[in-house]
Amino acid sequence: MSFDLTRVRAQFPVLAREVNGQPLAYLDSAASAQKPQAVIDAESHFYEHGYAAVHRGIHTLSAEATTDMENVRTQAARFLNAASPEEIVFVKGTTEAINLVANSWGGRQLQAGDNIIITEMEHHANIVPWQMVAERTGAEIRFIPLTETGELDLSVLPQLIDSRTRMLALTQVSNVLGTINPVKEIIAQAKAAGVATLIDGAQAVMHEKVDVQDLGCDFYAFSGHKIYGPSGIGILYGRKEMLDQMPPWEGGGSMIATVSLTEGTTYAAAPWRFEAGSPNTGSIIGLGAALSWVSALGLDVIHEREQALMRYTLDKLASVPDLVIYGPKERAGVIAFNLGKHHAYDVGSFLDQYGIAIRTGNHCAMPLMNHYGVPAMCRASFVLYNSEEEADRLAAGLTRIHRLLG
Ligand code: PMP
Repeated sequence: MSFDLTRVRAQFPVLAREVNGQPLAYLDSAASAQKPQAVIDAESHFYEHGYAAVHRGIHTLSAEATTDMENVRTQAARFLNAASPEEIVFVKGTTEAINLVANSWGGRQLQAGDNIIITEMEHHANIVPWQMVAERTGAEIRFIPLTETGELDLSVLPQLIDSRTRMLALTQVSNVLGTINPVKEIIAQAKAAGVATLIDGAQAVMHEKVDVQDLGCDFYAFSGHKIYGPSGIGILYGRKEMLDQMPPWEGGGSMIATVSLTEGTTYAAAPWRFEAGSPNTGSIIGLGAALSWVSALGLDVIHEREQALMRYTLDKLASVPDLVIYGPKERAGVIAFNLGKHHAYDVGSFLDQYGIAIRTGNHCAMPLMNHYGVPAMCRASFVLYNSEEEADRLAAGLTRIHRLLG
């Protein structure tokens, strides 16, 4: 199947908007992606025609809503090539997924003297939950450092892993540098040493086909809102043997088998054991629509198109004076940069005046900012609905800012 940019863009209503008198160039999808009409329609159709509480009622609407929700679990399992829908936990997003694993798995498995390996390029969502559980249990955090070119220095991994290493948790794609980490090889090394693995797929699932069985990871997390779905919903994949051993982390309705005031509580099986309370059903339905939409377009086709656009953009940006671009040549989705000595906020504000939306700040990756010795970076992200024309406008806008500010 070939890629038709005009057709794709037409499915995202917001892209027709103007911002500050200019057509919107939305280059902030790595923070949160826009939604195609199919996702908007699926969610509103659910509220208009099929909404009810799930798992609780025997009436028709409740039974239908429960089936719809469980169908999305099956769909998510297929999307990641999980072995079964029971390996899929609905969570709020990547952040909640990692907190769940850190608390439930980490709370039970970690002891004083154990260690967890992360990397210097992690989003705070894959740092802070581990620090919190390490503090509670007396475990130690180790990290894989970065090379000059913004890749992981994997030469140190054999020294980092020892007999007390319990978990290796890393991102598949850096949200700042776009670095695509060789996660399959890293997982194999961890597995050989008996170390559990978690992959943060927040910046990966929208760019390439993910197969969790092929990767061999124990856990994989992603957020719906970055893959054209609604916010407030995400997926935690957990290998069945892992989830089955893990205690619940939040208590309440829907996660129990029996509750007695005198004899305590027994818990439901995984994955329901990890889904206390009423779920975000509308967003689950929207996520299902997003996964269908992406799959219909085809991740191979998307990947090829995005890579071509990335090459074009990097080529264009090469002509902007005093532009420092961070990260390796081979990258997915994002380009982080600074323009001369100007603060990222100033550059971002100017670009906004030209209708160009980018991200500025520390990108929830302060250790990475420290590595480069800068307080902030600008980040332009490119996905399937972005165009060469938007890349031209970014390069022209930056050149103009350089001329204006010196
Ligand atoms: N990990 C990475 C690599 C991310 O880019 C993000 C979002 N910026 C997260 C985790 C956290 O995702 P969420 O806020 O959707 O939970």
